[in-house]
Amino acid sequence: MKLEGIHHVTAITADARRNLDFYVRALGLRFVKKTVNFDAPDVYHLYYGDETGAPGTIMTFFEFPGAARGRAGDGMIHRVSWRVGSDDALAFWAERLADEGVATRRDERALRFDDPEGLELELVVYEGAEPPLAADAEDIPAEHRLLGFHGARAYASDPEPSAPLLADALGFERSGDRDWIAAGDERSSAWGYDPPPPERGLMGAGTVHHIAWATQDDEQLAWQERVAATGAHPTPVIDRDYFKSVYFREPSAVLFEVATMSPGFAVDEAPEALGEGLKLPKQHEHLRERLEQSLTPLPNPRPRGVRR
Ligand code: ZN
Repeated sequence: MKLEGIHHVTAITADARRNLDFYVRALGLRFVKKTVNFDAPDVYHLYYGDETGAPGTIMTFFEFPGAARGRAGDGMIHRVSWRVGSDDALAFWAERLADEGVATRRDERALRFDDPEGLELELVVYEGAEPPLAADAEDIPAEHRLLGFHGARAYASDPEPSAPLLADALGFERSGDRDWIAAGDERSSAWGYDPPPPERGLMGAGTVHHIAWATQDDEQLAWQERVAATGAHPTPVIDRDYFKSVYFREPSAVLFEVATMSPGFAVDEAPEALGEGLKLPKQHEHLRERLEQSLTPLPNPRPRGVRR
């Protein structure tokens, strides 16, 4: 039994319009679902990913309009990384982001920058054999597109207490003192910890809320049992319509989720229409009229009939 790397990463935005513009127009991800936070339906839950919304590519945001900026501190994720195909792709992105007015920091094999609300993102050259998972972005050459998550890193002053949960329950493999790999049969992701800055973390715009790891559907209950056996407190299985979820806090205080690979985002919209409609779970469908008035209006970044 293995986790198939990252399923999705969920963060917070104060400005859905700017967020959509950055992740979809500037970074070239596809808007794959416009829905609400199932536990707080007045709040958007926006999903960006590859062309099909495959696990391993899904960056999601809750929108709290006007929320104050947060900052990553001890026990919080501070960096999210995507794969790209080559050094040339890093050069392409350095130039494209400069044109957007986004400052970038380059090291040998990676390019780092902040999203419009200060969330640190990274592009890493990937040379492994796992399938590239890209979205069709018409103004981004195919060879430079984002190819799915590479990994994520959190701050932890002492990450060692997380080791038993990561190794024994979740089957992560150590790749360094503070570094791990979640390697499945098809896909893998990197996970690591860095020493925290002195300031306390603040959840808010531009910070990550949680990270989800991908499980085969029929193994989710076994993961839940294994996590509970380490003394963590997993939730019951919760139906999120596009996947089923179990949540728990790992010992360094990062909120983890184990999410199923199916049914995926085409369960309530045709594959060619992903992200077009406001999709509400059935328990909140009666709120539609009010939510259509109160939620931030968003453009459809991919009007139909336009050839891609
Ligand atoms: Zn989640």
